[in-house]
Amino acid sequence: MHWTANGGVVTEAGIVERVAETRRVEPSMAVERPPFPTKLKIEVTGRCDLRCSFCTLTYKPRSAKGDIEPALAFRVIREARDLGVRDLGLFWLGEPLLNARLTEYVAYAKAIGTPYVFITTNGRLASTTRLRDLYDAGIDSIKFSVNAVDAQEYRRVTAVDAFDRVISNVRGAWELRGARAQPKLYASTVVLDEPDGERRFEAAHRLIGAYVDQHYALRQYGIQAAAKHRAAVLLAMLPCWSLFTEPHISYTGWMSACFYDHDPKYYLGDLTVSTLIAAWHSERAAALRRAHLAKDVAGTPCADCLAYAHA
Ligand code: SF4
Repeated sequence: MHWTANGGVVTEAGIVERVAETRRVEPSMAVERPPFPTKLKIEVTGRCDLRCSFCTLTYKPRSAKGDIEPALAFRVIREARDLGVRDLGLFWLGEPLLNARLTEYVAYAKAIGTPYVFITTNGRLASTTRLRDLYDAGIDSIKFSVNAVDAQEYRRVTAVDAFDRVISNVRGAWELRGARAQPKLYASTVVLDEPDGERRFEAAHRLIGAYVDQHYALRQYGIQAAAKHRAAVLLAMLPCWSLFTEPHISYTGWMSACFYDHDPKYYLGDLTVSTLIAAWHSERAAALRRAHLAKDVAGTPCADCLAYAHA
């Protein structure tokens, strides 16, 4: 379920197509030690200013959240470029606009030739000043996660009172872009597991659909959904794309097997002491991929997968 801003046909690869591409494991990548992917996410901060009920970060202790060391961030961005990474996301579980150095990281990645640099944000801190800096630094796309259709629901889902501000910031981002071709602006809305999910999505679309290039629905995922259909869903999603197509680097410098969590049990390698490619090809990574390719993750961290209720 997605629409373009003017209700028309998507004529180039937008965020929906990019996400679908990321989640497709091509045969050449379905091996224990695949080449380094063309996509990478680096978490510039593990902090967040919301506490969404469906997010794994909400359930982590506050003391376990901080920002990435700048020297590590610059080094990993450089290594990624040298390895041929084309799509670089400067965010993961935390809210990237909380990191005051985000614009520097974007500017550096673009200056060394990274083709596509992007973030996802909850939009609460997306002021005109902040956005102008990111646009000028050359960011290629910004996606807003807008997971409520009114102020009351926003407060219930995120535990923060910021709905009007977020909607205003999404619209402001569109106005600020004006006639520029870049960055692309996108929005997603989590469709919670309730009968009127489509109605909710359409309500959100009426608010922000005209102010982004694509607005799409995200199915419910996460802790609330995990208990329901876990065994069947987990089998259907093996081998999980997360291990084959897009590494995720935590703000602490660990490469995680799992896109959904940076719990230490998913760690594949420590980038404070090793390179990206060494972590990607570590024995731990190879062993976990072996289990995924055999479609038997019993005894691995993935046996307790929390990510999806729906394949
Ligand atoms: S825990 Fe689930 S989502 Fe995470 S890597 Fe394993 S199978 Fe994939």
